[in-house]
Amino acid sequence: MRIVLLGPPGAGKGSLAAVIKEMMDIIHISSGDILREEMKKGSKLGLEIKGLVEKGALVSDELITKLVEQKVSEDPKLSKGFALDGFPRTTHQAQELDHILAKLGKPLDFALCMDASLKVILTRLTGRRVCRNCGALFHIKTKQPKKPNLCDLCGGELYQRGDDNEDTIRKRMQVYEISTKPIIDYYAAQGKLKRINADRETEQVRSDLIKMLNEDKSYQNQKSSRN
Ligand code: AMP
Repeated sequence: MRIVLLGPPGAGKGSLAAVIKEMMDIIHISSGDILREEMKKGSKLGLEIKGLVEKGALVSDELITKLVEQKVSEDPKLSKGFALDGFPRTTHQAQELDHILAKLGKPLDFALCMDASLKVILTRLTGRRVCRNCGALFHIKTKQPKKPNLCDLCGGELYQRGDDNEDTIRKRMQVYEISTKPIIDYYAAQGKLKRINADRETEQVRSDLIKMLNEDKSYQNQKSSRN
């Protein structure tokens, strides 16, 4: 399956992408993670990206499209499918993605829009903690690690992202409304849009997704050809 996850910051795209990856044995590509990798290198490009990300602004369509294209096309598991999380974020990126996938002969199956309210988003993101080592997600109230500030999976240190503070979250939401929301119509016009209520907990969203996939003919066909 080739899936794009859409939705505001904090909708749970990363958490659901991890679930989908497990369920379908496909790759999970997060544009935010790709950029954070670049930032970690401390290169000139990394510092430029950091300035934009910490303001809640988007990096250029050209740069992110190039980085995602590289990541997608060099992954040996590409033929199994992918869940793209955080890309595309503008209509131009969505058009570019269609071109890239057409070149690879691997068109998108569907775009899943995760709808979430501002109140839920603020609670989720201000309390979110991320493992510096493996990227696993925790929350100071709803998903506490067993040992304070340490990842349950790999023991790595947990940290709060520089853009997970209330001011930057509000800015990211504005950017989402202006630049990203129009993509919903782009995929609806292609007949590829599915929607899910992402105000609920990951487990509930997961079972809604499974129900949705069980009703999806192309998923059922791909599943039976794998077995
Ligand atoms: P995320 O981890 O998806 O919340 O992304 C964190 C930040 O990285 C965003 O707020 C943007 O600054 C930047 N970013 C991630 N994906 C994209 C994209 N597709 N286009 C432009 N900027 C992006």
